[in-house]
Amino acid sequence: MSELPVQPFLLITDLDNTLVGLDTALDELNQKLDQHRQKYGTRLIYSTGRSPTLYRELEEEKGLLKPDVLILSVGTEIYYQGQDAIDTGWAERLSQGWNQAEVRAVGSHFADLVPQPETEQRPYKVSYFLSEAAAKEVIPRFDKALRDRGIDAQLIYSGGQDLDILPRHANKGNAMGFIREQLGIGSEHTIACGDSGNDLSMFQARDERGIIVGNARPELLEWHYLNPNPNRYLAKNHCAAGILEGLQHFGFL
Ligand SMILES: [Mg+2]
Repeated sequence: MSELPVQPFLLITDLDNTLVGLDTALDELNQKLDQHRQKYGTRLIYSTGRSPTLYRELEEEKGLLKPDVLILSVGTEIYYQGQDAIDTGWAERLSQGWNQAEVRAVGSHFADLVPQPETEQRPYKVSYFLSEAAAKEVIPRFDKALRDRGIDAQLIYSGGQDLDILPRHANKGNAMGFIREQLGIGSEHTIACGDSGNDLSMFQARDERGIIVGNARPELLEWHYLNPNPNRYLAKNHCAAGILEGLQHFGFL
């Protein structure tokens, strides 16, 4: 039986409820990915809404593999392995039309917006807790208030509780494209995995392959069903088991 030559690939995965969530499946996937990296030079990127502080907590708790590149704070901070400083080329792109202090000042006028801890307020991200009941009414009003002050921002509501305000061009999808270009890896060898609203930008109007894990949130599933695409696979299995299923579906593993 002839086998296709094994190719390195670029895996970009969200962490909470995508890579992380089922410990035994995570161990199995980690083992397979680690082997693939050592043998074929496959690259691993984590793309998470977590700040550096919350990322380090999870890394320690779950014994995550060291990624080649880390995308934190919903696509707004890029770190290459072994470097503590953020990628300044990316930061420069995000600076245009953005004013973190002013976003926070506008947000303070909305009683339903509960600021997340100070560690989650980042140079290019302002984060609140917002209840699902209030979200529908508050988000458009907040959006308008920001626009009225000339702030070029986007509002991303995720997981039924988190509202992130980001510079217009900041998201996980654009960060993925930026890194892929820097690494020189084609879209057909790149695969993105996610479970919730802030992962949508990795799937929408993009050429990379995509895996949505079986436990995905309704906000992502609804969009997926309305926008079918053979480059995107909805796994039956949850979390890391869903990623493994998808990698096998596309023939990466
Ligand atoms: Mg997630």
